[in-house]
Amino acid sequence: MQKFIDDMIETMKEYDGVGLAADQVHESKQVAVIEVADNPRYPQKPNVPLTVLVNPKVTPLSEEMEEDWEGCLSIPDLRGRVPRYKSIRVQALDRDGRELDFIANDFHARVIQHEFDHLNGKVYLDRMRDFSTLTFLQEFARYWLQS
Ligand SMILES: [Zn+2]
Repeated sequence: MQKFIDDMIETMKEYDGVGLAADQVHESKQVAVIEVADNPRYPQKPNVPLTVLVNPKVTPLSEEMEEDWEGCLSIPDLRGRVPRYKSIRVQALDRDGRELDFIANDFHARVIQHEFDHLNGKVYLDRMRDFSTLTFLQEFARYWLQS
C-alpha cells in the first residue's frame, strides 16, 4: 500500500497533475493524492500541500457553487468549465491510518471534488452543465486566456 501511494505521487508529479485517484492508475481502491505546488498546468492557483486521502468522504458546507476550468490527466488535451461546491468538509484517513478532518475552499475544494468523483466513477464531463466551454488545450490558450 505504501509503495502504491508513493507510485501515485510520482505519477501525479510526472504528469504535472494536481491530483490523482487510484482508479486512474487501474486500481480499484479508495485512495487519492493531491498537491498543488506552482503547477504549470494551473498557474496562478494557490498551493495545496501534498495530501493522501484514503476512504475520503466529502460533505458540502453550503449550496454555493462556483464555475471554473478543469482538465483531467485521464481525458487529455481538454478543458471545460465545471461547477463545484465552494466549501466542503473532508473526512479521510491519511497514509498512516490517522484521521483527517478539514475544511477545503475554492480551488482546494475543487481539486478534492474532482478526485472524489473519480473514486466514484465520475469525471468532470459528468458535472458540466453543458459542453459549450469544452475546449482543446491549444484553443483554450488561443481564445479563452485572452478574454
Ligand atoms: Zn481527473
